[in-house]
Amino acid sequence: MKAAKWYAKKDIRVENVPEPAAPKAGEVKIKVAWFGICGSDLHEYLAGPIFIPTENHPLTGAKAPLILGHEFTGTVVAVGAGVNNVKVGDLVAPDACQHCGECLPCRMGNYNVCEKLAFTGLMADGAFAEYVNVPAELCYVLPPNFDPQAGAVIEPLATGFKAVRLAGSLMGATVVVFGAGTIGLGTLMCVKASGAAQIIVVEMSAARKKLAKECGADIILDPKECDVVAEVKRLSPEGTGADVSFECIGNKFTGPQAIDVLHNCGKAVIVGIFEEPSSFNFFSLSATDKVVIGTLAYTIDDFAGVAKLLASGKIKAEPMITGKISLDDIVDKGFEELVNNKDAHIKIIVSPT
Ligand SMILES: [Zn+2]
Ligand SMILES: [Zn+2]
Repeated sequence: MKAAKWYAKKDIRVENVPEPAAPKAGEVKIKVAWFGICGSDLHEYLAGPIFIPTENHPLTGAKAPLILGHEFTGTVVAVGAGVNNVKVGDLVAPDACQHCGECLPCRMGNYNVCEKLAFTGLMADGAFAEYVNVPAELCYVLPPNFDPQAGAVIEPLATGFKAVRLAGSLMGATVVVFGAGTIGLGTLMCVKASGAAQIIVVEMSAARKKLAKECGADIILDPKECDVVAEVKRLSPEGTGADVSFECIGNKFTGPQAIDVLHNCGKAVIVGIFEEPSSFNFFSLSATDKVVIGTLAYTIDDFAGVAKLLASGKIKAEPMITGKISLDDIVDKGFEELVNNKDAHIKIIVSPT
């Protein structure tokens, strides 16, 4: 079968590889319909290995070179022994968090932060291929008429869905979302669906500002044009700041700002992937009762929530999908396009055939 394999930084090859074997006990084999290229895949392309193991991963035994891809839909074509939650012919969207099931976070139900977490397509062979094997328990079964292209963005949307779930009730709230990339837009749509009264998005790119408007932002603030913290305070009902913020950029300056835009007792949810540390005085927490929540990924219940919101039209996949290509073109029209034309894209989805 055809697959896109990561060998090294700037070295992803589309090549013929053996099809995955018959699924082991507890696994399923999936014929991939559509997959998305993630920001983390792009990081691996530009600067990897970051998450890709160079020694055998403790859970999966995988190491480079390996097949990327963790955002996808496909049809189950074979099931291993003991699998009864999915059957051959099911359209599924797999949760990427392969986990040990034994460590403390796993036992608490938070397997997304398993001590041995192995992300499909980064720490195990993934879905940039015609077929992939994954654990059956991670497969969310979609209704048969579900659009498989929309299904390919359930995974990134689930990250925003879970961030919003952790924030608690947003009914009537003033909310700030930092960043209108894939995760920011997904978070924004879930914030909107949760009944927030006023949604402020912080973004610099013209194309992304437009998408943020389409996805439900009431106000867009550009940090090149205004003092974001002062402006949020001015716009907030009591003049003291927002109720909740979501940092979906991972920038060393917007991290602390996500806390500064809040009124006392407000909540900041940190979703972004940070490359550099921020300078931050913890007194802005101990003097204010503000709460900071960290979040990584999702669990399969978040897939269920996203799939239902997509099916009901309360959130939409279309604004997220800015390109559709085939696997043969993944380097030139996928990775290179995302590097050279960054602002024009949110999610490029790929057909393996
Ligand atoms: Zn991703
Ligand atoms: Zn675990």
